[in-house]
Amino acid sequence: MSEKLHPVPEEWAKRAHVDAAKYKADYARSIADPDGYWGDIGKRLDWIKPYSKVKNVSFAPNAVSIKWYEDGTLNVSANCVDRHLATRGDQTAILWEGDDPKDSKAISYRELHEHVCRFANAMKDRGVRKGDRVTIYLPMIPEAAYAMLACARIGAVHSIVFGGFSPDSLAGRIEGCESKCVITADEGLRGGRKVPLKANADAAIDKVGGVETVFVVTRTGANVPMKEGRDVRYEEAVAAASADCEPEEMNAEDPLFILYTSGSTGKPKGVLHTTGGYLVYASFTHEMIFDYHEGDVYWCTADVGWVTGHSYIVYGPLANGAITLMFEGVPNYPSSSRFWEVVDKHQVNTFYTAPTAIRALMGGGEEAVKKTSRNSLRLLGSVGEPINPEAWEWYYRVVGDSRCPIVDTWWQTETGGILITPLPGATDLKAGSATTPFFGIKPELVDAEGRVVEGAAEGNLVIAQSWPGQMRTVYGDHKRFEETYFSTYPNKYFTGDGCRRDEDGYYWITGRVDDVINVSGHRMGTAEVESSLVAHEKVSEAAVVGYPHDIKGQGIYAYVTLMAGVEGTDELRKELVAWVRKDIGPIAAPDLIQFSPGLPKTRSGKIMRRILRKIAEDEFGALGDTSTLADPGVVDDLIEHRQNKA
Ligand code: ATP
Ligand code: MG
Repeated sequence: MSEKLHPVPEEWAKRAHVDAAKYKADYARSIADPDGYWGDIGKRLDWIKPYSKVKNVSFAPNAVSIKWYEDGTLNVSANCVDRHLATRGDQTAILWEGDDPKDSKAISYRELHEHVCRFANAMKDRGVRKGDRVTIYLPMIPEAAYAMLACARIGAVHSIVFGGFSPDSLAGRIEGCESKCVITADEGLRGGRKVPLKANADAAIDKVGGVETVFVVTRTGANVPMKEGRDVRYEEAVAAASADCEPEEMNAEDPLFILYTSGSTGKPKGVLHTTGGYLVYASFTHEMIFDYHEGDVYWCTADVGWVTGHSYIVYGPLANGAITLMFEGVPNYPSSSRFWEVVDKHQVNTFYTAPTAIRALMGGGEEAVKKTSRNSLRLLGSVGEPINPEAWEWYYRVVGDSRCPIVDTWWQTETGGILITPLPGATDLKAGSATTPFFGIKPELVDAEGRVVEGAAEGNLVIAQSWPGQMRTVYGDHKRFEETYFSTYPNKYFTGDGCRRDEDGYYWITGRVDDVINVSGHRMGTAEVESSLVAHEKVSEAAVVGYPHDIKGQGIYAYVTLMAGVEGTDELRKELVAWVRKDIGPIAAPDLIQFSPGLPKTRSGKIMRRILRKIAEDEFGALGDTSTLADPGVVDDLIEHRQNKA
């Protein structure tokens, strides 16, 4: 892997909230004295009743219990909205960019306050109470943020389901948390195409029952059927509701939201996050990692249907009084310059996206980027998957003109916020490494027997101490929570990811532990082989899995998507095998290569290796749950052209 160092630019070390010396000192304190450290950091929020206790955590087998700030009370919407009114009421809170480039608007903190209060009252008018679950199934429109904050205001627990999910997926998630209220829109709009949200919601609700109220936001104005007594037009309901809504006093450990994980490894889990610790962690990480300063324009391209949208579009930025950009569209509509046009239009300073988007835009060439200015950009971010060094360098050089640091942020739905990441004013960067732990995070690498390995080593990534943003349970199934995360390595949180630590103490996520392949006794992360393949000029994307091999135990099976216009020949297969052999070594050379125009991805753009493994094993009869796939159609093509036919 590329180990070239990109040192912290001098002006960054000066201007940033954290420089290298402060990182070192504060990190040491955060690990040695979590109570003192997080007791201080917690004061960044407005508490109704201040906490006297900070941390009360047990990771013990069958007795996992995680509490932070447990005797404090507060309200999340008051922290994200009301407390900014006196100082920045007229400043933009949400900068909204529609699917159509002609569609955009700015919502000030004062306007946000009124929207949230009215919606909160409209929900109360329909009998939604503290503790009730509300399912949100909306496109990326400001009403999604209003809905989240309105729930938080009255103490209702939201569960957001990404607008791209099918009626079946939605039904499972409504049923899973027994929502009695659903918030949706007539239709969504993405890349110029309409998404029948209300029709999907109707189909889902018919299947599960129990839903008493459906709020329908008008987005396209499509004529959708409204069910008498159950369905309410959002615009009418908020117009009739009072603009005055006292925030509910919530305990720090009262639930804030449930979010089902993306499901790339199996049945989605209802991850539960609570109020105080979550908001402390989301707001603090947002300010430090993106080095947020008053007035910066900050853009995270995620969807609010993912945890990234929760923590780093809505809760973290708004708690910090930030200007947060919310984008309804997709990277390649109307053209593959869209991201950079939006950056120029709104003078975006910080841009945070996923490797899948970067790789897709890379495939489209530099011209689409270079024709825009991007002068306003100062900082870039990446999240969701390991970013291969090739894509990192392209992002750095082409998008950031070699002057913007990249924060490669490793975290999970379960962690509530970022755990391993560079700090732009403190950390020298290495392309492809998430670098070093955030304050309060104690990562360890353990071997298969559970022994902690020290120094430069590879192993399974666990976190040995709690942090305030950690999930508290799997909704309604604490046993599953304990079994999934705390039984493999007692007294430690098991992340499910494999990781390498180099001689500088930098962390390199190698992919999920389930994805590690064992070739002739050598353990290898799939990410490494994929990075090598993607570094070849004819390859746009690659996914690698293991399959049973008579001699080696496991063989390497690579699915390769080629650049536009390149033909997949046997010649090219040989060339790629030789390429990887030279790059990593003979042990990593793929045994089988399948050229695949598309890969099975979740709606958040992650490759579902579980399915690829089945096809590589020639066991495609039982592919399991494919309902969270973005395009189930690609699977048939993969099966047809599989290389390991028994
Ligand atoms: P499920 O848990 O349902 O299978 P998921 O793990 O894809 O779904 P998320 O919580 O959205 O759901 O993703 C977290 C995972 O994404 C991490 O465990 C890791 O594998 C990967 N990941 C996220 N950010 C990074 C990063 N910066 N570098 C490497 N991997 C990352
Ligand atoms: Mg996961």
